[in-house]
Amino acid sequence: MADKKSRPRTNSRIDSRTDSRAAEAREAEPPARALAVRKRVDPAMLESPAQDWGLDLDAAPAHNGEFEQLVHRILEIIGEDPKREGLKKTPQRVANSLTWLTRGYDMDVRDVVGDAVFSETHSSMVMVRDIELYSLCEHHMLPFFGRAHIAYIPDGKIVGLSKLPRIVDMFARRLQVQERLTEQIAEAVQEVLEPKGVGVVIEAMHLCMMMRGVQKQNSQTVTSAVRGIFRNDARTREEFLSLAYGRNSLHR
Ligand SMILES: [Zn+2]
Repeated sequence: MADKKSRPRTNSRIDSRTDSRAAEAREAEPPARALAVRKRVDPAMLESPAQDWGLDLDAAPAHNGEFEQLVHRILEIIGEDPKREGLKKTPQRVANSLTWLTRGYDMDVRDVVGDAVFSETHSSMVMVRDIELYSLCEHHMLPFFGRAHIAYIPDGKIVGLSKLPRIVDMFARRLQVQERLTEQIAEAVQEVLEPKGVGVVIEAMHLCMMMRGVQKQNSQTVTSAVRGIFRNDARTREEFLSLAYGRNSLHR
């Protein structure tokens, strides 16, 4: 499929096709908004750079006593000595980094997108490729990482292109399975823009498979989610998938 079409040259590709089947493509899909709200983090800190959260090797400014005790206990259980010098600040650092890596629970898609939705008559496919993605698998709490490609066909509204990576981050910074992550991103774009259709592809490598030797190092998981015309119209779907699996893709 990847060879059928010419491939995009840039990360942000705007394609030239239009489609008139908006009405029938508009499906009644239930909004999948089950965004849990946790009140354990000061929202003002959500935008802080990683080093403010103790992700660098030295500083570890925030404290969560209970969390740190648990990490301390994990160190004992795996046979370490939490008192040795290199591990002294580890409970604090782990607590901080895990808090930061799961900060997406405290975010809502409307906050992330803000007022960056604009009226626009453009009705061709808009695609942002190769959005870097880092998440944690919910089965092992180990990282999975890769790229997301998001496309939509507007129906009167477009979104600032920089907001799509932020939507990816919002859902990726939670414990996830790749399949659900893909669906949630598609659903969020659908909800915010009510476009004629949405397509999301994620290609990722999972450390829980790679490090534990369950599968070999190069195995990737590819997931896709489509809404609206991307689901109903084979031509649109095929164009999207061929763009998604284009030149810079991890998937070859
Ligand atoms: Zn896993």
